[in-house]
Amino acid sequence: MKPASVYVHFPWCLAKCPYCDFTSYAAKPETIPHDRYADAVIHELRARVAGLRAAGVEYTIGTVFFGGGTPSLWKAEALGRVLAAIREELPTVEDLEVTAECNPTSLDRDHADALAAVGVNRASIGTQSLREDELKFLGRLHDSAGASRAVADALASNISRVSTDLIFGLAGQDPADAELQATTVAEAGVGHLSCYQLTIEAGTRFGELAKVGRLPMADDGRVAEAFLRIDAALEARGFRHYEISNYAKPGQEARHNLGYWRGEPYLGLGCGAVGCLETDAAGQGAVRGRNPIDPAKYMQLALDLPTGLPTESDGFSSHFEALDGETRLRERIMLGLRLADGFDLRAAAAPLGVDPWPAERKRAAEKLVAQGKLVVDGDRLTIPRPGWLFADDTAARLF
Ligand code: SF4
Repeated sequence: MKPASVYVHFPWCLAKCPYCDFTSYAAKPETIPHDRYADAVIHELRARVAGLRAAGVEYTIGTVFFGGGTPSLWKAEALGRVLAAIREELPTVEDLEVTAECNPTSLDRDHADALAAVGVNRASIGTQSLREDELKFLGRLHDSAGASRAVADALASNISRVSTDLIFGLAGQDPADAELQATTVAEAGVGHLSCYQLTIEAGTRFGELAKVGRLPMADDGRVAEAFLRIDAALEARGFRHYEISNYAKPGQEARHNLGYWRGEPYLGLGCGAVGCLETDAAGQGAVRGRNPIDPAKYMQLALDLPTGLPTESDGFSSHFEALDGETRLRERIMLGLRLADGFDLRAAAAPLGVDPWPAERKRAAEKLVAQGKLVVDGDRLTIPRPGWLFADDTAARLF
């Protein structure tokens, strides 16, 4: 059976952050339909699993990720029902990694223990910054003390692995301070850290402000300096910079995200969730579907979803793509090059029935190697560390 994962999206937050382009909606906790949403996700799960079975596709699930939105707002009992249903419906590995994204405003020791009791063994905490002015700028509801407390509570709880997110590259941020924040959370005892550069997305509040020149922007040189300082400081503290934005102590890598970067299939459940599934036992065909992005519509349709895989005309998917081999290989290149270990182009292309080295790609690779932006060792492609800041551009040249 092939390795695969399950992603469950929980679309509600206490407030909408101005930089956020995820499917998330501000809601008062008492208005969240905890159980109805869990019922809808479980119904969708059963419909999709039946579809996979009918297509002869057999997966063993290695990881489950509850993302959002703010899954720590979901009653642990409802989240646990969904997790139990996943375990019931699909074969899972013995050491299943189960992550829940948590925000400091909805995570304390009791809630962390409640999540652990229903099977969550990894918490990913949205710290984002330890500075009050930055948290305010980012529209976050917690303060620095709240972030530190949430991390400490998670570490003291029965959840065995704790990760936290930081955002760097804010206007006016001193690279030394970005480094200090990273080392502070690292020294708090987490085993995994995600350090994301602030990106301005169209359709967000920040995107609107940037369009009219009213958003203070960071200087590129200082952003690059922050990236390199964080890299050096965390590596010196025993964290491996194993992916452009991610650092882990040995054995603490995010297995769920590694699955994405390695091109493994994933079942996406919940409002706005994206899934990428194979449609035949040999893995030659694949589809990507996105669920309805409106929570009420999602629940209404998911509770009646007929068995099967996503299709263009199923009246459910808000976006649908049948993925051909070339498209899938381009995605493997884009994602595989994010990893410190890179990826094996020939091995990625083989199951897709695609030529890994057409003449044009060969030429592009040679040029990138000459520029020091790519290392080619046999069929293994990697981007050297200083070139990580331009990884998307490097990958695009190999398309
Ligand atoms: S808490 Fe996370 S998901 Fe929710 S609005 Fe903010 S960035 Fe988006």
